[in-house]
Amino acid sequence: MSHYFAEVSYLLASILFVFGLKGLSHPDSARRGMHLAQFGMLMAIIGTLLHKDIVSYEWIIVGLIIGSAIGGSIAHFVPMTALPQQTALSHAFGAFAAALVGVSEYHTHGGTASHFTLGALGADVVLGSLTTTGSLIATMKLQGWLPGAPFTFQGQKVFNLALLAATVGCFGWWLAVPSAAVAFYFMAVLALTVGVMLVLPIGTADMPVVMSLLNSYAGLAATATGFAISNNVLIIAGTLNGFSGFILSVIMCRAMNRSIRNVLFGAFGQAAESAAATGAEPMREISLDDTAVQLAYARQVVFVPGYGMATAQAQHAVHELAGMLEARGVIVKYAIHPVAGRMPGHMNVLLAEANVPYSLLCELEAINPEFPSTDVAVVIGANDVVNPDARDNPGSAIAGMPILEVDHAKSVIVLKRGQGKGFSGLENPLFSKPNTGMLYGDAKDSLMRLAEAVRAA
Ligand code: NAP
Repeated sequence: MSHYFAEVSYLLASILFVFGLKGLSHPDSARRGMHLAQFGMLMAIIGTLLHKDIVSYEWIIVGLIIGSAIGGSIAHFVPMTALPQQTALSHAFGAFAAALVGVSEYHTHGGTASHFTLGALGADVVLGSLTTTGSLIATMKLQGWLPGAPFTFQGQKVFNLALLAATVGCFGWWLAVPSAAVAFYFMAVLALTVGVMLVLPIGTADMPVVMSLLNSYAGLAATATGFAISNNVLIIAGTLNGFSGFILSVIMCRAMNRSIRNVLFGAFGQAAESAAATGAEPMREISLDDTAVQLAYARQVVFVPGYGMATAQAQHAVHELAGMLEARGVIVKYAIHPVAGRMPGHMNVLLAEANVPYSLLCELEAINPEFPSTDVAVVIGANDVVNPDARDNPGSAIAGMPILEVDHAKSVIVLKRGQGKGFSGLENPLFSKPNTGMLYGDAKDSLMRLAEAVRAA
């Protein structure tokens, strides 16, 4: 009977995950999608708790309490801007759990299972282990505990390939002799090392793509676990996770005009650093009052948010200023670059939090043709996504990345604190163009003061 209940709740959970993912594909339905997926996860947990193989609940309850306390604290205390490293850490936990299930299964049943089950178990341990260490390195790089620049050395690719080959070799050895525990554990240790060596040569600028790939590996590790322990919800949820993570990586690469191969093996940050060494042109500073006058008497204003809006938490301030301009008859729009900020949908989430109507958010292809007829483009802590070098300078490290062409607007106002570079570490010629004025200061503070000045204008 309990088995029947478990299977029904797993089926329900799987259906809810599918609808949850569907909901996440659009900002309007994202919140509902999230709730559906959460409910699905609850169903999966209840199903698992009813499993016939569970003999006692004490340790499970201890785990639930500790896990919930850690998860709840992370959700409460981690700031929005630290979400990328928090997500990377979550992948590490998930993948480690999957790898541990594999190790425990081998420990319990030894090499007596069928070859198919052993194959799934091995895949689970290899993918789970390399995702664990890879995600930990990603977390440390994003948090600044490890240098963000790519770590490279001569012969690195050959070394990594040899490491990968040795891991696969151990896997094969263990499949041939399943009782050889040394092969199994050696394979796990090698996979842990592969994770470290795969992520070390990748610069922080590419880390979000790497994370979404690691997310995909963690999902596939869960799928393999599902096959190894005959658990349907793990197979379905892991596959959904694996493929959605992969599709997201491809979308992010496209938005940056990079290939996955280039992200994984290109050591991107190095090129960026050398390019950043070429000096900057002088920039024109603009006063708050002049900016306010330009905004108040404009016909159309386009706000272009970037990572700086997230760090300043300026989404409410921009919405307030926009409301004031609209009340004066100014047409206001928001230009959203697919990789603005530090995670996909970062700007959409922040602006939705501030109740900015979704209909005002314009994607890159829709807004670029409008810049020539825009009176003022206000860049709020964005840098790389408005860097004209990506379009005009084939030698740039971000050449070919689609950008928001704010430089085509009649006037550009850039809100930033100083001479700080963007994620890529490159100089931005937009800041020295004759139609660009730099309004220095924290974005939230500048926007609040601008709102006051517009009110007085
Ligand atoms: P960005 O290029 O990282 O630039 C952010 C700018 O914000 C900086 O130049 C900084 O200059 C300014 N800033 C920081 N704090 C501020 C504050 N409190 N007030 C005002 N300004 C502030 O940002 P972006 O244009 O959004 O570009 C995103 C980058 O991340 C791209 O390179 C993209 O490829 C990369 N990336 C994003 C994703 C994603 O999924 N979103 C994925 C992969 C990679 P100051 O220090 O001078 O203030």
